Parts: sequence; C-alpha cells; structure tokens
Amino acid sequence: MTNDIFAQQRAYWHVKDALRRGALSRPAKCENCGTDPGLMKNKKSKIQAHHEDYNKPFDVKWLCVKCHIAVTPRNNNCTPAPRFGVMNNAAKLSAENVLFIKKSPLSGRKLALLFGVNASTVHRVRSGRNWAKLEDGK
Ligand SMILES: [Zn+2]
Repeated sequence: MTNDIFAQQRAYWHVKDALRRGALSRPAKCENCGTDPGLMKNKKSKIQAHHEDYNKPFDVKWLCVKCHIAVTPRNNNCTPAPRFGVMNNAAKLSAENVLFIKKSPLSGRKLALLFGVNASTVHRVRSGRNWAKLEDGK
C-alpha cells in the first residue's frame, strides 16, 4: 500500500473536486457511529472523508472527526490534510515529515503548504534549528 503524502494529497483533492462537481455527496451522519456532528463555524460539515487506500480516491467512508481519528493509524507516514488558506500554526510535524522536508527539493513555501505549517517552520527544520537531533534512519 502506497499511502505516501502525495497519494493522500491527490485523494484529498479528488474528493474536494468530486464534491464540487456533485459526483460525491457528503452525508450528514457518520457512517460508523451514526451521529450528526453538525457544522463548523464556517458552515462546513464536520463529516470527513476517510480513505482506506489513497490510491482509490473515490472509495471513501464518511466519518465524524472522532471516528476518523480512531481509524487513522498513527505513524502511517501521513499528516492530516493540510488546511489550505488557513495557516494552521498548531500543526505538528512527524519525524517522517521532517526527514522529507530536509531531503525535499521543493521550495519552503510549497512544503509549508503541503504539511500545513508556516514557511518559517520549514525554514527552521531546514536550518537545523528544529529537530536538529533527528537522525536519518539510513
Ligand atoms: Zn462517528
């Protein structure tokens, strides 16, 4: 299973696009526990698309945040989908993310968008001010 962050990103955008086109529709209730978590302040549903396999972007389960967190494995080399537009200052990078950032040829700005962190965070990782002790596993 290739659940890399790029597959996750593609799946995320496929779902977003399919929702906009009407090819997918987001139910009001969680498919797992049946609760209706209501809407966020911005009137968007709190139901989230969960992918068992990011290579099947339209094969989604619609889950409430609680169930989504419960079924998402830890340390799966993926971060939650970045919140584009709203910089999420609370975003945390995993060790895998940090290694990715250190090796990546992408610009700091692109990496910041990809991981949902500030560009300054990416800069600190690259300059070794953050995560200086992290060793490359190889
Ligand atoms: Zn649920």
